[in-house]
Amino acid sequence: MKIHAIQTGSVRIKTAQVEGRGHGLKRRLAVFTDRNWSDWLPTYAWAIEHPEGVIVVDTGQGVHLLETAQSLHPFARWEVAFSIAPEQEIGPQLRDRGIGPRDVKQVVLTHLHMDHDGGLAHFRGSEILVARGEQNLARGWAGWVRGYLPNRWPSWFDPLPLDLAPQAFGPFAASKPLTAAGDVIAVATPGHTRDHISVLAQENGTTFFLAGDTSYNEALMLADKVDGVTGDEESSRATLSSIRRFAADHPTVYLPTHDPGSALRLARRSTIATRG
Ligand SMILES: [Zn+2]
Repeated sequence: MKIHAIQTGSVRIKTAQVEGRGHGLKRRLAVFTDRNWSDWLPTYAWAIEHPEGVIVVDTGQGVHLLETAQSLHPFARWEVAFSIAPEQEIGPQLRDRGIGPRDVKQVVLTHLHMDHDGGLAHFRGSEILVARGEQNLARGWAGWVRGYLPNRWPSWFDPLPLDLAPQAFGPFAASKPLTAAGDVIAVATPGHTRDHISVLAQENGTTFFLAGDTSYNEALMLADKVDGVTGDEESSRATLSSIRRFAADHPTVYLPTHDPGSALRLARRSTIATRG
């Protein structure tokens, strides 16, 4: 098994989104009143070269996101900025690594935010899996209001519902193996979105934790800091706690989508327990 970190451009958000301030509605409004931008953060997508076929986890950004600056949606227009060139999309980067579209057996999305599904256009022929609840929240005008902007999706986009079984995987309440070997597992990590999932790839006793947006970086997860956009602080915090408990029992390389340290930790197989 080989895991590729693929940086699909970068993103800037408000500092009050990276680390939430206050609670409830006040916390969510703080994202809009905050004048301070984060640094430019990477947006990673991941490709797992597995003996059963390539599994892509999240598709990163697409150049169409550069148009969100003109969006009528207030979050897309004012609270986020993207940087990406065509050759930084996931399709060309996979080809550079010798992985063609037909080699990709499965595409699994942690959630449907626009910097995670922005490269869908490259995967027309692949099986695409998205948690059923996440699909329901993202569709239609209500999905647009929630900030998913489903009008961006390719017309053919019709993902299979990923239904996790109520089967605990360590501290995670629901899970589903994605490979016959059982070494790549989707687990429920609710919080950032209600039906957010993470993908765990296990090899030689090490777990590579493809975390999506459970936290924007590892330090925030370790410090139990919830982001500014979750609709449910409690479940976000429970997820962060589950990740820490899991990592206490299993050597874990924690790989959030926007953590500037993710690619180096992956390359060094640097686990949570062995550092600092
Ligand atoms: Zn997100």
